[in-house]
Amino acid sequence: MKQLIDKLYETNNLSPEEYKELIDNRNPELAEYLLEKARAVRIENYGHDVYIRGLIEFTNHCRNDCYYCGIRKSNQNAERYRLTKEQILECCSAGYDLGFRTFVLQGGEDGYFTDDKIIDIIRSIKTSYPDCAVTLSMGEKSYEGYRAFFDAGADRYLLRHETADAEHYRKLHPESLSPDNRKQCLYNLKNIGYQVGCGFMVGSPFQTTECLVQDLLFIKELNPHMVGIGPFIPHHGTPFANKKAGTLELTLFLLGIIRLMLPDVLLPATTALGTIHPKGRELGILAGANVVMPNLSPVNVRHKYLLYDNKICTGDEAAECLCCMRNRMESVGYHVTVSRGDHKSIL
Ligand code: SAH
Repeated sequence: MKQLIDKLYETNNLSPEEYKELIDNRNPELAEYLLEKARAVRIENYGHDVYIRGLIEFTNHCRNDCYYCGIRKSNQNAERYRLTKEQILECCSAGYDLGFRTFVLQGGEDGYFTDDKIIDIIRSIKTSYPDCAVTLSMGEKSYEGYRAFFDAGADRYLLRHETADAEHYRKLHPESLSPDNRKQCLYNLKNIGYQVGCGFMVGSPFQTTECLVQDLLFIKELNPHMVGIGPFIPHHGTPFANKKAGTLELTLFLLGIIRLMLPDVLLPATTALGTIHPKGRELGILAGANVVMPNLSPVNVRHKYLLYDNKICTGDEAAECLCCMRNRMESVGYHVTVSRGDHKSIL
């Protein structure tokens, strides 16, 4: 099995059968071998730098009904909120002073925020902070919408593909959402010129090794700038309330594989990873991740943007997320940097 890791390290690629063999036969010793290589590749490409993104959760209204997600339309108990443009700009201002040079606008698919409203927000942020990158994460839009956001100054877009296996996709989403459209959106975003991030949940209900192999093959084909993966965590108000969460162990193993597949990819150690284990994000960094996304949302809305149960950094004490993050990264020998943190291919 170590030969497979050597091959992945040397060629950045394995066959579908080889990925399956590697995942199915993993064990602690093999994981240590993989993660050591992933760390080395990460350090070769990005040193010990950790890029930070200020996450602004600007709306939890959503037209969709994804079975796994706590802010799905049918969750009557979600306390819905929207930030105003002024509130969003206040988050940016506070974030800029703290050293953030990327702002991520993430939210549900909220019809209140028309393309024109989003364009106005992007323009305002880029006018006030021309040295910052704006990342959008607001789901599936038309080609024209994506194009207009890009023209308004948006730099990056995060749209997890969720699962590359069409049958599996059907088990996680209602009929109105399609795996083909999800993937098409990612190709559209790339074509327009965004730095693009895809990704999936680890251990989502009904996920098999075959699904994960499909995910890896899709990632290789899309060749994104970023890949966001984190464990699935159940939310009590969803149809998946009683499903099992994904594991730390498999998430770290997959982070390692993705680092070897795409040596210079931007790879976040996600909030979900920090939620299933107190040192999840530190361990993610040690598995080859190089990005963290501290929460910049106003403290009074954080407990409302609940995609899953027990989400960290939602209490009143969480205002100083960045300071906590700096310490966490230093504790494993890495350093948060003040920079846009673009992909290496961007000059
Ligand atoms: N509406 C946007 C942003 C979604 S929230 C979009 O469609 O892209 C960001 C990510 O959180 C989702 O892509 C999903 O992968 C993840 N997520 C949602 N529910 C989750 C859960 N229960 N456990 C773990 N991750 C979840």
